Amino acid sequence: MAQAKKEELEKVAKGVLIKAGALAECETHKGTFVDEGDPEAVSQAYATANDMVKAKEVDATRDEFMEAIKTVLEEAGEECPLCAEEEGGDE
Ligand SMILES: [Zn+2]
Repeated sequence: MAQAKKEELEKVAKGVLIKAGALAECETHKGTFVDEGDPEAVSQAYATANDMVKAKEVDATRDEFMEAIKTVLEEAGEECPLCAEEEGGDE
């Protein structure tokens, strides 16, 4: 898959995860999203993604879109990286 398409898919996947409540924006760092660690929200996101593929709302196969969701979730992490950095002090 082309890199541009992959990035576009991940953008859409991110929106799905945010809407489902699987990802939440850091209160301090706008635009930074963290994994809420909520399995139900993740299931909901996958279900929504599945429906979107079926309805042809995304230009991708089911596997491609599921992969994009997984990638975004894995990259998000459970803690905001910017907050973690600030807590770490000046070491
Ligand atoms: Zn933060």
